[in-house]
Amino acid sequence: MTLVTMGPMLKRAQSAGYGIAAFNMIDYNSARSIIEAASDLDAPMIVQVSVKTIRHWGFKPIATWVRMLAEGVDVPVALHLDHCSDVEVIKGCIDAGWTSVMFDGSALPFAENRQKSEAVYKITEAAGVGLEAEIGAIGGVEDDKFVAEDASILADYDECVAFVSNMPNLAVFAPAIGTAHGFYKGKPKIAYDLLKRITATIPIPIALHGGTGLSQDQFDNCIAAGCAKVNISTMHKHQFIEGFIEVRKQKPKLEEPLPFIVGQYTAMKKDVCDMIVAFGSKGKAAHVAGKAA
Ligand SMILES: [Zn+2]
Repeated sequence: MTLVTMGPMLKRAQSAGYGIAAFNMIDYNSARSIIEAASDLDAPMIVQVSVKTIRHWGFKPIATWVRMLAEGVDVPVALHLDHCSDVEVIKGCIDAGWTSVMFDGSALPFAENRQKSEAVYKITEAAGVGLEAEIGAIGGVEDDKFVAEDASILADYDECVAFVSNMPNLAVFAPAIGTAHGFYKGKPKIAYDLLKRITATIPIPIALHGGTGLSQDQFDNCIAAGCAKVNISTMHKHQFIEGFIEVRKQKPKLEEPLPFIVGQYTAMKKDVCDMIVAFGSKGKAAHVAGKAA
């Protein structure tokens, strides 16, 4: 299929109570593992890319890989830019064929974040691209930004309401609800009451950041409360590295590179499949496309 925008599919996922996985790709092998896992399980998928990864490969190679892989399968795939505070990178993604982008102004004072998010919203609406915007501070490391887990700041409910008021077509909203990027050191305290209060009044699907390491109960509760986009980055990176190393451990003398790539692919794909099942989006490809009840 051609790449799709994520807004409509997230709305359908939210109203039916399942989550769509959003995996951070690293390279072609990783993108392939993500998209082929989705195809095997007949699931919708969001392939997202960090600014760091775009700076490494360039816009065009990434857009070309993901478009080509998506066109080879029958499930809807969106290409999304993860946490980005640089409007030039956002424009570069739109020009290269990304179907959605995230503007992350969460480090800015509220009024400035709101104003800049609204400016980006005008750009994405004109381009027919979905937008994700964030408020509060999600803990952990994202690219070069570090927020201590215990210093993460929950989104303020009244600010959430004001923040989205001029962005009715926002594809997905990312209020900080107590989750963090990276591996958790302690048990994350998720602010379910805040999440439920937000989704009761704001008709926009919610993004759950920091998905790696949450329990099935936590996924279930967050998804039931309106989190329709569930981000996984840390575990995917872990499988990328460990999948490679595992082949070396088993075959110390092997000098052929392809089995290493296959080991990596297999490890990454298994985790993607497990998360699709955990989020309830297995078999939902037709549903998100509006072709099934
Ligand atoms: Zn994030």
